Amino acid sequence: MVDTLETLAGVLKEKGFNVTHQRLIIYRALMESKDHPSAEDIYNQVRQTDPIISLGTVYKSLEMFENLGLIQRVNTLYHTARYDADMSPHGHIVCRKCERIMDVFWKEPPEFPLNKSQKHGYRIDGMSIHYVGMCPECQKKKP
Ligand SMILES: [Zn+2]
Ligand SMILES: [Zn+2]
Repeated sequence: MVDTLETLAGVLKEKGFNVTHQRLIIYRALMESKDHPSAEDIYNQVRQTDPIISLGTVYKSLEMFENLGLIQRVNTLYHTARYDADMSPHGHIVCRKCERIMDVFWKEPPEFPLNKSQKHGYRIDGMSIHYVGMCPECQKKKP
């Protein structure tokens, strides 16, 4: 995770991107959020401080941060992309009912070695793990 906005500004500058107020508040909104928001959630939050920001700017900024490896897109069972500024190794539990996403951490990051005899030809540069279940609130509700 980029700890401070100064560090984020440094990374953007180094890669040749302008450091704009909007990019900074988008990143900050994601960094401060622990519930893996969607682009729209972030938009609804940042437009309270910047009413002229557009949803398109939020989408483009998130895509840029993702390409720079500053944030990750959480793969969920659903079509809406959800984002996470925490780049440390961790997995997610997804509630299949309300789509809430929670971080889970392992004592040791698990390894899932592939069968070397399978020739897939891919260059693998990441993997994601998510558990699926039902959150405590949804368990209390009647079906
Ligand atoms: Zn739930
Ligand atoms: Zn996470």
